[in-house]
Amino acid sequence: MLFSQRVFCGQITPDDVGRKVLLGGWVDAFRDHGGLLFIHLRDRSGIMQIVFSPEVASADLCQRAASLHAEYCIAVTGEVKKRLAGTENPNIETGNIELMATELTVLSESDTLPFTVSEKAMVPATVDRSADKVAEDLRLQYRYLDIRRPSMRDNLMARHRIFQCVREFLDSKGFLEIETPVLTSSTPEGARDYLVPSRLHPHNFYALPQSPQLFKQLLMIGGMERYFQIARCFRDEDLRPNRQPEFTQLDIEASFIDEEFIYELVEELTVKMFAVVGIKLSRPFARITYADAMDTTGSDRPDLRFGLRFVDVTDVFYQTNYSIFRQILQRGGYIKGINIKGQSEMLSKNVLQNEYAKEIAPSFGAKGMTWMRSEGGKLESNIVQFFSNQELEALRKKFDVADGDVLIMIADPSYAIVTSALGQLRLHLANRLSLIPANSFFPVWITEFPLFEATDEGAVTSSHHPFTAPDRIDFDPKNIEELLMLRSRAYDLVMNGEELGGGSIRINDRNLQRKIFAALGLTEEETREKFGFFLRAFDFGAPPHGGLALGMDRTVSMILQTPSIREVIAFPKNRSAACPLTGAPSAVKREQLAELRLLNLGAQDLLLGTAQKGNRIDHLSWVSRIGISAKERPVMEQILTQAEELVLLATQKAGKEEPIRNVAPVTNHTRPGTEEKRSALSQTGQLLKSAPAVKGNYYKVASILE
Ligand code: ASP
Repeated sequence: MLFSQRVFCGQITPDDVGRKVLLGGWVDAFRDHGGLLFIHLRDRSGIMQIVFSPEVASADLCQRAASLHAEYCIAVTGEVKKRLAGTENPNIETGNIELMATELTVLSESDTLPFTVSEKAMVPATVDRSADKVAEDLRLQYRYLDIRRPSMRDNLMARHRIFQCVREFLDSKGFLEIETPVLTSSTPEGARDYLVPSRLHPHNFYALPQSPQLFKQLLMIGGMERYFQIARCFRDEDLRPNRQPEFTQLDIEASFIDEEFIYELVEELTVKMFAVVGIKLSRPFARITYADAMDTTGSDRPDLRFGLRFVDVTDVFYQTNYSIFRQILQRGGYIKGINIKGQSEMLSKNVLQNEYAKEIAPSFGAKGMTWMRSEGGKLESNIVQFFSNQELEALRKKFDVADGDVLIMIADPSYAIVTSALGQLRLHLANRLSLIPANSFFPVWITEFPLFEATDEGAVTSSHHPFTAPDRIDFDPKNIEELLMLRSRAYDLVMNGEELGGGSIRINDRNLQRKIFAALGLTEEETREKFGFFLRAFDFGAPPHGGLALGMDRTVSMILQTPSIREVIAFPKNRSAACPLTGAPSAVKREQLAELRLLNLGAQDLLLGTAQKGNRIDHLSWVSRIGISAKERPVMEQILTQAEELVLLATQKAGKEEPIRNVAPVTNHTRPGTEEKRSALSQTGQLLKSAPAVKGNYYKVASILE
């Protein structure tokens, strides 16, 4: 039989009983029943049981079948049979049928495996997922085996279907899929760039895109109106468990739109993506301002699947005698708390005092934690005696206390410490008390972010990126206090405590964009240098526009509920941003660095970029009075770079001493006898009239570089 006749294991149904078919795949498992040999053959679509029976197969065939091992790649021909009653396997889709083999070809043998690939045991109702317990680096080192595992295969197939759904949906809404460069210059998303050295332009670098932000805005200025791209982005950030140095974004931008367009579009899209695996999300998604999110959950990516919202009780204690609270409030502080309803049985005094107040809350940055439990209509704790009845009554009201409730409170002069510590306690308690409902999804838009954040140096930096539109434009770019009050037209889509994506309505007015750069402390020159090409585009009728990007690895991982995003990426980097399969990142040979002119750069602070180099060659051409054509420029550039490297080497070798630049003493030479025949014009100055520089009676030229 020919491969063209091959069918997939998973396609065979009881209707095929009696049919002769050719299957191809890998030996998933086998079992020898004294003469009768059973094999599970696995391909991408599923598993089929193959039977080698001496009644049907030749002795030679049975013998060859007996020498098969796990993960041999084979082709088998045989007839589809119904399984005998009682021998069905409910674990596999084809559990009611099997193939009586009549031919077998071993296409390729397999070494002993580093871990088990099979996830389906031969015995009905047992599913072996032992590879889940294998060290992740080993799985990544043999990723091609790991993705043979049905669970990984399913993840990649689901990812594909989700991506297809995205493409179809956005196409139906008039969006065009357009690619933007990967070798580009820096895009400001707040991370470090991955740089790629250019061989053709020595000492110049491309940056890999942190996002296609600038290009997608240029596409809007280019009149494309609606764009999307499933784009690879690169950010050189510190390691975090669920972060990859390269990741996939669904990048979207549209013109003549506002926030509502984005909410509508992205909600519809998200509902569709989750529906790919049968999860129903209801719309409209919730919306909460950044300030409210911080006030009630201590996070700008709140997990709203459970309650435990913060209650502000600062005003209860304005007149308090409890000295710790009084001192904090005198310093302009805050007191916030959570009512953990009906959990006093789970949170004993000992747990609250010795675990939470002494250990856990301080580990989240709080100096202490106050707790109370409501029993017999009274609030109890180790410090209630310090509070007045009025205060205790006010607490009961504010927290809506009933018996069995537990209150925790954090007080601190810093709003950031109160919200951050209480926010972490909120999550800790929700996990400990199993308050997070399984299989639930709570999407929420976070809106009205601050436009700027304060830096340690007393300046501001963009919370999102500098192209985000502010909520008003009449601000003074030098007034830091005012800048920090500005809100942006940015939005984040958050689900279950994770940020799935974010975006904003952009600035489309060139003057406003310049004002934002000024607020960020960039001089006109720095702005021109960094974003000149981008700002120039705003001089030619930029339409109003906005967009967003969704982190697709995260989104797919959320949809499939995998323990990490690496489970939905075919070839991810490990937790230390390395690839155990290819060994990347790896050392390179000196010759490669030399070819890229990256050797001996140690002592230079700043390497000359193309523009400066251009100037350098123009300058050289001028001082040496030698015209340099466009063709000669790269050659001259190389010569200069080599010279530079030599100088550098010499400088390094010379240490503190002035390096020797000339091996022979330098003197001026004139042809003997020429002095006497000086032109009369030289006396009047006429002769040297057009000389760029003159010394005595001589025309001054630059020293010649040989
Ligand atoms: N470029 C932004 C990001 O990567 C998303 C956007 O503003 O559209 O976060």
